[in-house]
Amino acid sequence: MEYYDDNFGHYNIESDEDVAFYHSMQRLSVQKRCMGCQQMVRIKRDYAYCNDCAEKRERGLVGLDY
Ligand SMILES: [Zn+2]
Repeated sequence: MEYYDDNFGHYNIESDEDVAFYHSMQRLSVQKRCMGCQQMVRIKRDYAYCNDCAEKRERGLVGLDY
């Protein structure tokens, strides 16, 4: 089963434990504006970027001040 989460993007979850982890992650997440794309996303309170922007930053496609 494929799940989507703004913290991690798309991923497949098969075991019940992992589904529980997914739901707990969703509970820990809050609606906030991504510092990168300025979209409203649901990410962890201590995250500033959605998954897409975090990936771009990791690949060095954008400057750190993006
Ligand atoms: Zn973003």
